[in-house]
Amino acid sequence: MNIAVVGTGYVGLVGGTCFAEMGNQVICVDIDESKVAKLQSGTVTIYEPGLEVYFDRGIRENRLSFTTDLAEALEPADVVFLALPTPPAEDGSADLQYVLGVADDIGKLLAANPDWGYKVLVDKSTVPVGTARRVIEAVEAHGLKAGEHFDVVSNPEFLREGVAVEDFMKPERVVIGTDSERAGEIMTRLYEPFVRSGNPIIVMDEESAEMTKYAANSLLATKITFMNEIANLCDLVGADVDKVRRGIGTDSRIGSKFLYAGIGFGGSCFPKDVQALHRTAREEGYEFRMLQAVLDVNDDQKTVLVPRITAALGGEDLTGKTIGIWGLAFKPHTDDVREAPAHVVIRELVARGASVQAFDPEAVETTQAAFEHTPLEGPGSLTYSESAYAAASGADALVVATEWPEFRRPDLDRVRESMKQPLVFDGRNVFDSKRMAELGFTYSSIGRPSYE
Ligand code: NAD
Repeated sequence: MNIAVVGTGYVGLVGGTCFAEMGNQVICVDIDESKVAKLQSGTVTIYEPGLEVYFDRGIRENRLSFTTDLAEALEPADVVFLALPTPPAEDGSADLQYVLGVADDIGKLLAANPDWGYKVLVDKSTVPVGTARRVIEAVEAHGLKAGEHFDVVSNPEFLREGVAVEDFMKPERVVIGTDSERAGEIMTRLYEPFVRSGNPIIVMDEESAEMTKYAANSLLATKITFMNEIANLCDLVGADVDKVRRGIGTDSRIGSKFLYAGIGFGGSCFPKDVQALHRTAREEGYEFRMLQAVLDVNDDQKTVLVPRITAALGGEDLTGKTIGIWGLAFKPHTDDVREAPAHVVIRELVARGASVQAFDPEAVETTQAAFEHTPLEGPGSLTYSESAYAAASGADALVVATEWPEFRRPDLDRVRESMKQPLVFDGRNVFDSKRMAELGFTYSSIGRPSYE
């Protein structure tokens, strides 16, 4: 099949590359000229395990190419994916300017080139209920007719950053929202090779498909937040959230995934999607109280370690104190730092005068860009270390903010000996509390008792 992918971010680049790996002919379009130039020269622009092999093969075998010219991608395409940003607008609703802007451009091009034929336009971005209808209107505004010249399908993406390629190649389910039989058949044919192990392709109406994505992310964010509140309570009553997790996770109604307590969720999806669903509800006159609670609790959770750090280091003023940070990405195996809890912690520490030295295996460049965009404020400073050991060296305290595998089994004797004070604040519960005490650390984690 001939495929166009508009937007080559995490979703578009992974999706386009995986469609090419499945033998399709794929052209990806982006307005970011420097990004397209890099992709054209064979450089993968994001860090995502496994992506490079498929990317290289797609280019080598001429199934995958990149352009800044929408028309070039649109002309041969049977299916056009919109993998565009839907960031939160000021009121928390999803900003649809990119999606509707491109829909308008596509309408113009299709109207001017009737010989390009019927196209399936696919909303891959996470968009509020009713967006498919608005995309249809934007295209029809150019004199075209849905069902005849084009159809619009809602096909929400469920990939997880860090395992995006694996998720895209073997999705647990594919959701296709359309009332058009023709578009539904084309989409089913496209996705069949990805679900050969028997996972379902679920076809439904556009509105339900749009809602499915928000419901999934909001439920997952709620599950994490619930466990974070259980952890906070464990801290107060002397229970151990790890034991509680195992105790409840064996209940098949609950399931063992997404029950890990920590310093909150981040990323480009959960915070904005929970916010957008809350906003959608409000627009309909319904106050979705649980979602507001999830957002509020998560905001607080990101800074739950800060008072513990200041208390351990002698007060609010952290001038002259050095603090090591392990992890900048919002989760392991990605360079994505959008809404990363580590960044919030760093902001708080720098505001109090601390000298922060941070290490992340993949997310230093993205962090530098983020802090260039929204600078740190306060008398403290941030520097980047070459290794986890270097970030701990000379530190009065060490904070674990992202659970990269390499942080799980470091030489802890070496870490302790290099630190000014053996203080560890583990925001991801990567270490064993008793062992940390035995190794001579003063150790504090989320929802688990500390030992002397
Ligand atoms: P992203 O910000 O990484 O990428 C978006 C890309 O679109 C950028 O490269 C940008 O330059 C490009 N773009 C913007 N305007 C354009 C235009 N007019 N023409 C062509 N390209 C344009 O975003 P992302 O993380 O890939 O997310 C895309 C959508 O998918 C969002 O709605 C998001 O909520 C959803 N989603 C993301 C994930 C994830 O894990 N990142 C998972 C599922 C769903």
